[in-house]
Amino acid sequence: MTKDIFVIVEHRRGEVRDITFELLTKGYELSRDRGKLLAVLLGFQNEKIIDKLKPFAETILNIDDERLKEFNAEYYQIVLSNLLQEKKPFITLLGQTAFGIDFAPSLSTAIDLPYSSDCLDLEIENDTVFTERQIYGGKINSRISLAENWGYLVSVRPGSIAPRDVELVAEVVDVSSPIKEDIDYRKFMQYVEAAKGEVDITQSEVVIGIGRGIKEDKNLSMMEDFAKSIGGVLACSRPVVDAGWLTKDRQVGSSGKTVKPKLYIAVGISGAFQHVMGMKGADTIVAINKDPNAPIFTVANYGIVGDLLQVIPKLNEKITELKGA
Ligand SMILES: Cc1cc2nc3c(=O)[nH]c(=O)nc-3n(C[C@H](O)[C@H](O)[C@H](O)COP(=O)(O)OP(=O)(O)OC[C@H]3O[C@@H](n4cnc5c(N)ncnc54)[C@H](O)[C@@H]3O)c2cc1C
Repeated sequence: MTKDIFVIVEHRRGEVRDITFELLTKGYELSRDRGKLLAVLLGFQNEKIIDKLKPFAETILNIDDERLKEFNAEYYQIVLSNLLQEKKPFITLLGQTAFGIDFAPSLSTAIDLPYSSDCLDLEIENDTVFTERQIYGGKINSRISLAENWGYLVSVRPGSIAPRDVELVAEVVDVSSPIKEDIDYRKFMQYVEAAKGEVDITQSEVVIGIGRGIKEDKNLSMMEDFAKSIGGVLACSRPVVDAGWLTKDRQVGSSGKTVKPKLYIAVGISGAFQHVMGMKGADTIVAINKDPNAPIFTVANYGIVGDLLQVIPKLNEKITELKGA
């Protein structure tokens, strides 16, 4: 019996989200010598999206229905409950995103399908599925074996898998939509754009991320001077926003922005995974932290162990000196 891998396509306003390509890369690896890799696309007038997906899957199951034009977890649940029970894929991959976590738990319950959430990776060994998940607030990675079943639902954290070109040419199979009635208790209303701040931290080549380690807002001006002196912008971890020291548009991380600058300097940031998710794509990462065991050092290319209140003035001095020279 073949063991197919399904990937639920995530798209918004006609654009396929990056997580989909990450999942298709993993799905390709898992499906080799076992079965086929199928992208499951729920949407309306999907031609443009299909063109983008074709090189990444062997089959695209295309469910085209005007009610699927915008994401609605209730409709997704109806479509996917039917599809998964009928086709019985071995693993169904979806993103650990606002999209995926909106329908995965109820889908799992509705069709009695084991669900492993927020995974960093997964593998199959002798027909047993193992997922890698973080526990204790991200301090330990655990490997979990899933109990025997015909299939599994696995959500994968964005950014955990590097997407690769797999150079396939997908066959498109139209699947009729099982949605019979309109749902009126949950409706898409409109997209609300996030308020734009003065600085777009995603556009800067040098980003200085400051964390709770700066202790007080009176230390902000020192950090602003530092950012200015090396031509960067200030960004921050969530506690800095919670404390009201910087605005939300400066927050980096899973509930903030993702930045990919040439240089990211993390100052007084511990390196919680929610923060790291938003900055690990930087070309070079420098961390300044007084705790040599801070997790941020595991993602940093360069580290300075020291008190930022002493390190930053010294760096400022040195930069001024070099500029003068
Ligand atoms: C659903 C959810 C979403 C979240 N989303 C985000 C997100 O988008 N972005 C985000 O950042 N967090 C997010 N968080 C919070 C996250 O889990 C961490 O709590 C947060 O990132 C910690 O921020 P921090 O590193 O600034 O503070 P802390 O963890 O308190 O770390 C402070 C660090 O500063 C160091 N330090 C202290 N004093 C000094 C000094 N004088 N000199 C040098 N170093 C010093 C300490 O050693 C420590 O490592 C989220 C949490 C949840 C539950």
